[in-house]
Amino acid sequence: MTVYLINPSHVSFGIGVITPRWLYVLAAATPSVYGEPRLIDETLESFDPVDIEPGDVVGIGIHTGNALRGYEIGTDARARGAYVVFGGIHATLYPEEARERGGAHVVVTGDGERVWPMALRDCAAGRPAARYDGGRLDGDSFLPGRWELVPRGRYMWASVQTVRGCPKHCSFCSVWRTDGQRPRPREVDRVVLEIVELRRRGFRFIVLADDNFYPVTLDDLRMAGRRHDRSRLDQLTAMRMERFALMEALAALPADTVFFTQITMEAAEDPEFLDAMRRAHIHGALVGVESVTPEGLKDVYKEFNHSGDALVERLQAFRRHGISVLGSFIFGLPSDRPATFDACLSVANRSDVAFAQFVMLQPLPGTLDFAAWEKALGDTGPQVGGIPLTRYWLIPPDHRPKVYIEHPTMSASEIRHDTQAVWDRFYSLASIWRRSRQTVVSVKARLAFVLISKIYRQMYANTGIATDSARVQRSVRWTRLLAVPCRRLFAGRPMPDLQSPLMDGGRPPGRLLAMVHYRPMQ
Ligand code: SF4
Repeated sequence: MTVYLINPSHVSFGIGVITPRWLYVLAAATPSVYGEPRLIDETLESFDPVDIEPGDVVGIGIHTGNALRGYEIGTDARARGAYVVFGGIHATLYPEEARERGGAHVVVTGDGERVWPMALRDCAAGRPAARYDGGRLDGDSFLPGRWELVPRGRYMWASVQTVRGCPKHCSFCSVWRTDGQRPRPREVDRVVLEIVELRRRGFRFIVLADDNFYPVTLDDLRMAGRRHDRSRLDQLTAMRMERFALMEALAALPADTVFFTQITMEAAEDPEFLDAMRRAHIHGALVGVESVTPEGLKDVYKEFNHSGDALVERLQAFRRHGISVLGSFIFGLPSDRPATFDACLSVANRSDVAFAQFVMLQPLPGTLDFAAWEKALGDTGPQVGGIPLTRYWLIPPDHRPKVYIEHPTMSASEIRHDTQAVWDRFYSLASIWRRSRQTVVSVKARLAFVLISKIYRQMYANTGIATDSARVQRSVRWTRLLAVPCRRLFAGRPMPDLQSPLMDGGRPPGRLLAMVHYRPMQ
């Protein structure tokens, strides 16, 4: 019996930007009795199922964007006599769909680490259950990836997770509903060991693939203090201390290590945290700006963000503390008007963000926006080839309309056109070159910045917004070409003898140990 783990994709770039972490984590959860699992990432190359044999187990992880390709693979694998197991966020939301469309014998919902071995055991015995619910594991149970299985020279960045869950409740995001609002941090020692393992293997650039790297804000602490809620305050303080302990340990890693994470804008008001990030080699962060107006922030339940000049000031604070920002903006919010596009571009330029992404409001399953949109369309909504628009991910990519939530005053094509224009202007060569001066120093680094900006734009703007498949295919070809030199920029020297900074001559340094194991007084 061969165990396959497959990350489906309709487009392959030859080189991957970030390692699909789940593949390596589930490889770690695969008992050795079943042999070495075969890991397939279709963002590198498309998968040929010809080797699948009766009795094999094919595990397929899907999100909404790659669900249809996952279903094609699952159906094929089942026809070849394999047991088909679906997991991931989309299968958790639509387990029946994975059975009906993807040939699933089994659906794993929630976190997969604990229940995957059970599903394998039952498949091997010929008696798989229809569903295994992994629930939400505590941070202590998260497994590290089996990084020795990563193909050499195929990825730019590795990925490590330090916390799951996000206490916010943005209307366009499903994270807080699927991963939960209670942050589940992973033990510092384990995170650091996994990062050391990656550095030993030559990964110098690592994404801290967390839902929100800043799970406790100064406001949260103040609020708990005002309420005289001692146990809540202790809990929050402990979590904050653990973040600092993690960053202190990361700071002791080789100086050329580079981390990137995602974080809420509230961190801009916490200089102590930003300084610790910088010391920890966290050189960049995705910050969800979403909207530049108070009305827009209200639209997405993100009123904890700032708008106008206060927003510019907050974003600049990251830069002042040495952290480059990838600002994420949404267009098509109900309160957006034609002038919003220019206003947004102006904020992006004035606030010194190094990179930006401009996405169009799209109803993603599992979000509040999706639920409202689905309800509004009802049972008699539009269809494409017999498939309701509310199941747009089932429509073949060539016929799939770009689905955006209907806007009260602007048409979808107007929003798409103006969004594309903002991408074009933000990523014009002159703009990129100007930004490169603010971000890096040497000419070589500036050229690298230009290359990375161009590849980012090709990958995310042209394949995400363009409606004609010719443009998408052209973009894929360009990305494949640019990806090879770009990956070399990120490659690091293997450091097989690197030791964990938590172990100093066999003993963890005292101050660090005290922070890592800090627990508040009960
Ligand atoms: S968008 Fe970010 S801050 Fe909002 S719920 Fe999702 S992860 Fe949390």
